[in-house]
Amino acid sequence: MLSAELVSSVLESAPDAMIIIEASGNILFANRQVSSLFGYEAEEILGQPVELLLPERFRSRHVAHRQDYAGAVRTRPMGAGLDLFARRRDGTEFPVEISLSPISHQGSMLVAAAIRDVTDRMRAERELREARAAADCASLGKSRFLATASHDLRQPLQALLLLNGTLRRLVQDEDAREALDHQDQALGAMSRLLNALLDVSKLESGAVRPEVRDFTLAPLLEELRQEFAPIASGKGLALTIEAGEAQVHSDVTLLAQALRNLLANAIKYTSAGQVRLRLVPVPDGVRIEVGDTGCGIAPDHLPHIFDEFYQVGVAANSARDGYGLGLSIVKNIAQLLELHLDVRSRPGEGSTFSLDVPGTAAAVGNTDSTSRQRRSIGPRDGAARHLLLVEDDAGVRNATRMFLKGEGFRVSVAASYEEASRLLDEKSDFALVITDYHLESGRTGADVVAAARARYGEGFRAILVTGDTTPEIRDLPGDARLRVTSKPINAEALLGLIASLEQA
Ligand code: ADP
Repeated sequence: MLSAELVSSVLESAPDAMIIIEASGNILFANRQVSSLFGYEAEEILGQPVELLLPERFRSRHVAHRQDYAGAVRTRPMGAGLDLFARRRDGTEFPVEISLSPISHQGSMLVAAAIRDVTDRMRAERELREARAAADCASLGKSRFLATASHDLRQPLQALLLLNGTLRRLVQDEDAREALDHQDQALGAMSRLLNALLDVSKLESGAVRPEVRDFTLAPLLEELRQEFAPIASGKGLALTIEAGEAQVHSDVTLLAQALRNLLANAIKYTSAGQVRLRLVPVPDGVRIEVGDTGCGIAPDHLPHIFDEFYQVGVAANSARDGYGLGLSIVKNIAQLLELHLDVRSRPGEGSTFSLDVPGTAAAVGNTDSTSRQRRSIGPRDGAARHLLLVEDDAGVRNATRMFLKGEGFRVSVAASYEEASRLLDEKSDFALVITDYHLESGRTGADVVAAARARYGEGFRAILVTGDTTPEIRDLPGDARLRVTSKPINAEALLGLIASLEQA
């Protein structure tokens, strides 16, 4: 049997505040930690009801709990799932964790309680919760920013694409045509980037589903070569993009976007020498390497370069080409497509980024869709058919009208649903309506289509063009005589849609 003295000294040296309570609820013993935690001298609490240590509002309830416990004694934490509070001598409260153990002593039941101050732990938990909420909020804010930015950029880009289409048809001069070709490529790249940006913000919300299929890399690489050769040669860099007949199994648009970002960076961060895209066979497919002889990246920055908005050696908010998003897009795409992404870099010597892309299960024919299928359109294809164009953005409206007129269509324009319905009432020879989805005063392109069909019959042909990808648009019931497309859409694609509708 342990001596009472030993037991007492063990209790005194315990790290937690310990009290022993009699069946009556009075405090029989309190160790030193009780004094320092609660601010009472031992003699001030011995013999007092244990409720002395509780905030006043809990005291009467506690008496009832204590009596219950006396009826079903066992070792357990007190108030499981509840936030428990204790009260110091000076009236201040603090959160506690309490474990209770029954002790049978000379025929009566005592209860030992270990009391732990959990203020620090609760604070850490609260801070963690707040930090997580702030991170969620920032991530939501960023996604909203991306969605809004890409939506607002779509309008002027849409206008530019159609103006490019118009100019192409008007201009005869060889040099001017070549400049327009380059402009078209740059606009195409910008459209794809915008779409990718929106995709990445959607991707983070889980809304993007990659369209993985077999395709040949060569046309994609050729497209990249054409896009980046003028930029590299403008900086005096040699650009080599290896061709090859590699067939891969992936999403062509997302992969193209990732390579585009890597090539753009390689050129941007290289002032002399070369940028090279190589294809290296690996067991399950092909490794696409983008190497440069540029400034390289210091080892301490390397782990962070794929983070959103991270730029090496750029103070926050200072102006510089890029926003530090390029590589985070690459990382997101690699994750989505399950591609292994790697980087090797030596400051002053250059960097090599690589993506391992799975090969096709079997060699299949070229299912490429990236090569430009430029529809050749004879002059005056529109043959004076009458179109109703509904678009509230004046820039997009004018550019679309000019382009369609150039193609030989007669075009009536409306800036709102109301104007559109008036025109639909006044004229009876519309062949097609092309309408923006979001219109002013809460109206949508779907309302315009409904009005046109009410007037011209259910088979009336319509194209809905949308600047965003809200679910309501994705959920619109499709029908053979309605096409839904998103901005920016280039001149050829718009004509292609009109042509496909006319056959419907
Ligand atoms: P940014 O818009 O700044 O180019 P990125 O996310 O594309 O943003 O890249 C993040 C950072 O990684 C860049 O600021 C740059 O310092 C570094 N970086 C990316 N690619 C290269 C490269 N090929 N060579 C050297 N540094 C690079």
